[in-house]
Amino acid sequence: MTEVRNFIRGEWISKREGREIEVRNPADQDELLGKGILASAREAEAAIAAASEALPAWARMPAPKRGEIVERAADLLRAEQDEVARLLTREEGKTLADAKGEIYRAYNVLNYTAGQSRRMGGTTIPSELPRNFAYTMRQPLGVVALITPWNFPVCIPAWKIAPALAAGNTVIFKPSSTTPLTAAALVEIFERSGVPPGVLNLLVGSSSDIGDLLTRDKRVRGISFTGSSENGTQIYTTCAARGAKSQCEMGGKNPVVVLEDADVALAADGIVSGAFGSTGQRCTATSRAIVEESVADELINQMVTRVSKWKLGNGLDLGVQMGPLVSAQQRQTVEEYIEIGKREGAKLVIGGGRPSCLPRGFFVEPTIFDRVHPQHRIAREEIFGPVLSVIRAKDYEQALEFANTSDYGLTSSIYTNDAGRIFDFCERIEAGMVHVNSPTVGGEAQIPFGGMKSSGVGEREQGPTALDFYTDLKVVYIDYTGAARTSKFY
Ligand code: NAD
Repeated sequence: MTEVRNFIRGEWISKREGREIEVRNPADQDELLGKGILASAREAEAAIAAASEALPAWARMPAPKRGEIVERAADLLRAEQDEVARLLTREEGKTLADAKGEIYRAYNVLNYTAGQSRRMGGTTIPSELPRNFAYTMRQPLGVVALITPWNFPVCIPAWKIAPALAAGNTVIFKPSSTTPLTAAALVEIFERSGVPPGVLNLLVGSSSDIGDLLTRDKRVRGISFTGSSENGTQIYTTCAARGAKSQCEMGGKNPVVVLEDADVALAADGIVSGAFGSTGQRCTATSRAIVEESVADELINQMVTRVSKWKLGNGLDLGVQMGPLVSAQQRQTVEEYIEIGKREGAKLVIGGGRPSCLPRGFFVEPTIFDRVHPQHRIAREEIFGPVLSVIRAKDYEQALEFANTSDYGLTSSIYTNDAGRIFDFCERIEAGMVHVNSPTVGGEAQIPFGGMKSSGVGEREQGPTALDFYTDLKVVYIDYTGAARTSKFY
């Protein structure tokens, strides 16, 4: 059993008083993994003060030297991946294969970002003023707060912490208190990599206790948030009101369009893995299959055949393809949506209940609804669980219209072999990411990641754009003879 602790000014802090939390395995509630006391306003204040004091020295350190620390963190995470993956599976519930995939992406992000620290140059730009030398340089924002969800508790923090540190910012990292142990394991790796005291601080606390303190404090110059659209909207509104920079990656209701010329078996594979992999608890999960009427029955039959063979269970067990929901609350939400779907008149094709053989975890069967109307709540609202809505469309134009009938715009996919339709879809779909003949999920360290509409606000994370959020661009004019003062251009 591990103690849940905060990390402030280079020290792990145990608290004696305050709100207690327990961390249990969502696949087996009898397994207690950790407990401790949540951070309060006092720790939040201490973390902001520590990050503010550590800022000047860290910002002055040459970027490639900061990058070396990030690179050491990549090496350590890679070396310790098996141990971290097991912890991630026990704390969040995803299968060991999914956990390893997440960690693979996380150390690639760290490696990539370490390299980026050597490329943080500006540009020189010809000035219209005589004998003037003009250039841009990137400077750190300052103290930044990184607020993350529970569903990718290694990868998402890694893709925020790495560019924040490489760019010379100091960090207050607030993970979801549902997955504090994995968050602490990542922070320990950075500690052992040589991050100086105060540069990276960890606060495990509830949003009601410390959320406002982090987002409203004037010393915190940037907030990078990943989580639900509801909370993200509140955060970027708060930040805008005080002129702080924010970047919010939020929810999704990701569509897959299947046209009648598609390889239906390929589409069935892609939709099933996109909808039910990681128990549907991915922002990029497939939640709507929008299918041309002529192939709908065949696609549904093929999906049902696949889903009925899926093995549910503890993610550490061999052969398990789907773990539990992360918490009792998450399971309740999913079950409520299944009831809503039935009441709205959608046809339950498979699933919808709890597997009776797994009573100690928060399991729900993979669930498919057919004949869902685009205006049904299960077609519009993010469920964040293993529930797929099949919407039938009369043709491509109607399928595209249904796909865009959503407040969200994170990711999307189309299955077809028609090159014209592929290019048309890529242009007209309202989503930050488009996949062709492949599932809606996935991402790579060197490729930008993010959404449109209610799914994303601010610069894209990962890849070459990741440093944009964490730096301010300064422009310099050097009048090297004083000639510009007398120039007619002034
Ligand atoms: P959540 O919004 O409940 O919480 C996310 C984090 O924000 C947590 O650490 C939480 O404590 C904190 N938080 C919530 N309100 C806050 C406030 N007012 N001030 C400061 N902090 C606050 O989300 P969740 O349930 O942890 O995660 C699931 C959600 O995350 C889903 O909507 C999913 O789509 C989204 N998500 C999006 C992406 C993406 O890249 N777009 C990736 C993963 C998850």
